[in-house]
Amino acid sequence: MATVIAIANQKGGVGKTTTAINLAAAFAQKKKRTLLIDLDPQANSTMTFFALEEVSHSVYDVLADHQLPFAEIIKPTKCANLCLVPSKISLAKLEANLVGQFDAPFRLKDVLTPVRKDFDMILIDTPPTLGIMTVNALVAATHLLVPIQAGYYALEGTDDLLETLERVRARPNPELQLLGIVITLFDKRTNLARDIQKQVNQVFGDKVFKTVIGKNVRLEESPAYKETIFTYAPDSSGAGEYGKVAKEVLHRVTQ
Ligand code: ADP
Ligand code: MG
Repeated sequence: MATVIAIANQKGGVGKTTTAINLAAAFAQKKKRTLLIDLDPQANSTMTFFALEEVSHSVYDVLADHQLPFAEIIKPTKCANLCLVPSKISLAKLEANLVGQFDAPFRLKDVLTPVRKDFDMILIDTPPTLGIMTVNALVAATHLLVPIQAGYYALEGTDDLLETLERVRARPNPELQLLGIVITLFDKRTNLARDIQKQVNQVFGDKVFKTVIGKNVRLEESPAYKETIFTYAPDSSGAGEYGKVAKEVLHRVTQ
């Protein structure tokens, strides 16, 4: 049964998508059967692997009204062992459609359960909100991974995220565990980044991954070339660091 990791932080631009695509690629390289689910209507994870014209159906078609079986929207990518469930802008409409539906928070979990046996690792990229998509991810997940950007206001909002974690854990998903915090976009030349790192370590202790993701222009460039960091710049610091985070994740989930 796959480990299901929701990658969430309601702040935008903190490295959720970069972490989702490159961790997924790292697991796939380690021969783990990996599925990346894009739950963000902005579809940035999807666009790293496909042109939007190539995406006829998205996760919206499954979550909206079970129009399609989930297995039919799982697309193999050009990376071995890595499949994607694509998003599309139409996902943004789903939020409104789900209002008042008693099973709204469970839609993803319901469709994911039957395919969990087909994968080792499932990663879910989420939008920068604590809305119904992120809640669906947390209800379906076994673990939550939180990227925190080493910049000003880094910790703002983490209280709300952790409160949401507790609420999901209290009722729909008691199994959900905080897998860890990964510090991203770290610029070792600045005092601010080092101060933020200290603060994050004080607040989250051993939940913080030892590996920190530095600022690396190759990480920023690779999606534009429809590549992950492991094919675009395998010798870059970004590839090395995401490889190490993947190792730490595997170590934590198998304990
Ligand atoms: P989110 O999904 O949380 O909104 P992204 O992963 O899209 O965040 O990252 C925001 C922007 O920062 C993107 O342009 C991305 O390419 C860039 N970025 C993310 N991580 C790094 C990094 N470690 N070094 C340099 N640029 C990065
Ligand atoms: Mg994103």
